[in-house]
Amino acid sequence: MSGVTLSGVTKQFGAVKVIHGVDLTVQEGEFCVFVGPSGCGKSTLLRMIAGLEDTSAGTIQIGARDVTRVDPSERGVAMVFQTYALYPHMTVAENMGFGLKMTGHPKAETQAKVAEAARILKLEPLLDRKPKALSGGQRQRVAIGRAIVRGPEVFLFDEPLSNLDAELRVEMRVEISRLHREIGATMIYVTHDQVEAMTLADKIVVLRAGRIEQVGAPLDLYRDPDNRFVAGFIGSPAMNFVNAVVDKAGSATAPGLGASITTTAALPSAGAGADVVVGLRPQALSLVAGDSHKVEVVEALGGVTFVHLTSPSGEKLVVEARGDVLPKIGTLWGIAFNPTDALFFTADAEGRRLR
Ligand code: ADP
Ligand code: MG
Repeated sequence: MSGVTLSGVTKQFGAVKVIHGVDLTVQEGEFCVFVGPSGCGKSTLLRMIAGLEDTSAGTIQIGARDVTRVDPSERGVAMVFQTYALYPHMTVAENMGFGLKMTGHPKAETQAKVAEAARILKLEPLLDRKPKALSGGQRQRVAIGRAIVRGPEVFLFDEPLSNLDAELRVEMRVEISRLHREIGATMIYVTHDQVEAMTLADKIVVLRAGRIEQVGAPLDLYRDPDNRFVAGFIGSPAMNFVNAVVDKAGSATAPGLGASITTTAALPSAGAGADVVVGLRPQALSLVAGDSHKVEVVEALGGVTFVHLTSPSGEKLVVEARGDVLPKIGTLWGIAFNPTDALFFTADAEGRRLR
């Protein structure tokens, strides 16, 4: 078992740079999730760690070894992809053992490793079946089993659950989490789904356009984002953002909230008149009697209700409401919040957090 260290890792496809000097340490035994929107470079970075893409600049270390120029088969990694790519004519057991068979491992050793993987993944009753007689979730479990059998130092997963329906995704998420606890190996997992990232990760790496925006434990990113991108990406429904203008040190007025907010955040020192952006999670807002905000959409999920509102200044907000009485579409309400829940960001494209 080994950790992974990336130093100045860069990837260029022809003239186009898609990974811009990534520095990252994944600790031994850690479950690290790369998350970010489609096209931000998650798969490319993972494939570079696997050796399936070469590295344009920088170094990749697995354990104490520099593997930047090492062949994929020599890196001690096993990768699980979104598509299972099982051999249709082989049984589950043969699919799982195939890699070891090809590299000339003794039959008894292969069988023992397949049996152990089947036990971990609860695949024992299915070992003699062909892939076509398996459900999507079972096929993906066989693909994971194939990785376990190889006994890698590092597991790499590229959106392994994206082809499964919602219910199965939740089930497999729990399975993968259990797998990590049971075998304790270093795992790097790519997803565009922030809920998967939040529930699986010891450490989340938020990527955007080939750069790391922030690295941290799930709840640290949720509570203490470094910028507006991370604040908006982590958490569901997404954080609300409204424009505000600084009144004086420690106070800003947000027309979209109909309120002046006092804060300990370091607002721009230029003082009065500077533009900032206020972020408040739907959970931090509540509906109160008033006539400032109009209800546009009500999403009642049973336990919670998401109420979509328009402010007098035309900004859209989502409020998480609990309780049985649902606001009616078209009615007017006021909103309330605790000022200490408000986060502040610069109003420029960078959206840097003001603390
Ligand atoms: P993600 O997995 O986060 O959706 P990718 O790593 O697949 O993103 O892609 C990152 C960027 O690199 C995208 O802009 C994509 O178009 C580009 N890219 C990926 N593979 C290639 C390639 N073989 N040639 C050129 N550009 C590529
Ligand atoms: Mg991808």
